[in-house]
Amino acid sequence: MRRLQNYVNGTWVEVESEHAVPVYNPATGEVIAETPLSTHVDVARAVEGAKRAFASWSRVPVVKRARVVFDFLAKLKAERDAIAKMITTEHGKSYLDAQAEVDRGIEGIEHALSAPTLMMGESLAEVSEGLEQTYYRYPLGVVASITPFNFPAMIPLWVMGWAVVTGNALILKPSEQTPMTTLRLVEMFHEAGLPPGVLQAVNGGKEAVDAILSHPEIVAVNFTGSTRTAAYVYETAARHHKRVQAFAGAKNHAIVLEDAVLEPTIDGILRAAFHNGGQRCMATSVVVAVGSVADEVVERLAEGARRMKIGHGFEEGVDVTPLIRKEHRDRVRAYVDEAAMSARLVVDGRPAIDEHPEGFYLGPCLLDGVTPEMRVWQEELFGPVLSVVRARDLDEAIAIANRSRYANGAILYTQSGKAAQVFRDRIDAGMVGINVNVPLPVAFFPFGGHKDSFYGVTGENGKELVQFFTRRKVVSTRWF
Ligand code: NAD
Repeated sequence: MRRLQNYVNGTWVEVESEHAVPVYNPATGEVIAETPLSTHVDVARAVEGAKRAFASWSRVPVVKRARVVFDFLAKLKAERDAIAKMITTEHGKSYLDAQAEVDRGIEGIEHALSAPTLMMGESLAEVSEGLEQTYYRYPLGVVASITPFNFPAMIPLWVMGWAVVTGNALILKPSEQTPMTTLRLVEMFHEAGLPPGVLQAVNGGKEAVDAILSHPEIVAVNFTGSTRTAAYVYETAARHHKRVQAFAGAKNHAIVLEDAVLEPTIDGILRAAFHNGGQRCMATSVVVAVGSVADEVVERLAEGARRMKIGHGFEEGVDVTPLIRKEHRDRVRAYVDEAAMSARLVVDGRPAIDEHPEGFYLGPCLLDGVTPEMRVWQEELFGPVLSVVRARDLDEAIAIANRSRYANGAILYTQSGKAAQVFRDRIDAGMVGINVNVPLPVAFFPFGGHKDSFYGVTGENGKELVQFFTRRKVVSTRWF
């Protein structure tokens, strides 16, 4: 069995601890590697390397740092398909979705090349007679990022480019469930010329995270994962006086009005709900069908869901791929079992479990007549389950969506500009779509939700990540 290693000081190193967890191919149930669980000793070793690297890397002019990112970008583009294959193998998502994931990660790295402009400060020549003031941006020091299983390339790429180009030394703690893709990306950055210690990968789970959160020399933590872990990371990091941003779970609502163009709407909702097995923080998990269109929406969703192709990620034309782990699949199934007792289970994806015993499959499930009183509406399932709630009008539909504790994305399907304006202004969500199925901001716009979908101030990517990874110094100057 291949036991993975940490990437520390520019080389692969063994993890001290004997403890490890398996990495599976979710399509076959096979164990393909072992993630060692690092302890505070492994984290401390990485911090030592990062401190040394920061001392010199932070003094390299930003233009030169950006050149290393440029060389990494070239490698990334050349190896795009090989990385996508790794994603499909350890995560299970379709090869097409994996390629799209790498492409979105590449966008983040491309945008990181704008660091020389985005790191500029501001000046005023005469704040009073003979006095000028200028602010400069400086890197923070040793920073960390803790990432989730569902985007093992895109999320680390969004973070690593910015953390490094702004002059920090980053310690990355990939998901223990899908670490292999992220580890390869870290290695590739060094093949592109990144000095040892500037970017390191430490494998592990809770113990490694706790060591990061309490280490006095790590000054900032970027986190993406479930709301429960995000809250813990946010509180613990803040207690240790670190700067922290924590991107968390979701329950995205899509409202369908009577004037929506139904064909692309239904097609878009089906893909947003069921591709990647519903394991996306931007997945649509609730449809709010408004007024007289509700019956037709449910009927068409059911037809489409029944037609979806269940299979492994390398199969041509596959729609619904396996879930990350058997335990997770069984947890999602239990939600469906419970919901079927109060709502109407229009499409039952549970037979796929026996039809595909080789992996962690669950077919698409569609529930009608769901209400906010049900657990299936309240909680993030992270699986191929779509709930339909019915509403009288747009006001009621928005009110339902806004009752959720989550507020990552929200979508309105309509042809009415006025309805779109009302929705835009009243919906409580960080990323809003109007006839757009997955309203993921491109790399130049900030990513992030509201309420229990995000704890922090600055979003992911671009200008806001530059703000997160730098601190200001305002210099007042007078010459006699
Ligand atoms: P998770 O919270 O289980 O794990 C995320 C990271 O935290 C991993 O690196 C893991 O090792 C670590 N971790 C897990 N449990 C921990 C604990 N008790 N203490 C300390 N660290 C712990 O999340 P996941 O299952 O890997 O990812 C799926 C979740 O991430 C979903 O809730 C999804 O909505 C969310 N997500 C959010 C965004 C966003 O940008 N808002 C993006 C992707 C995924």
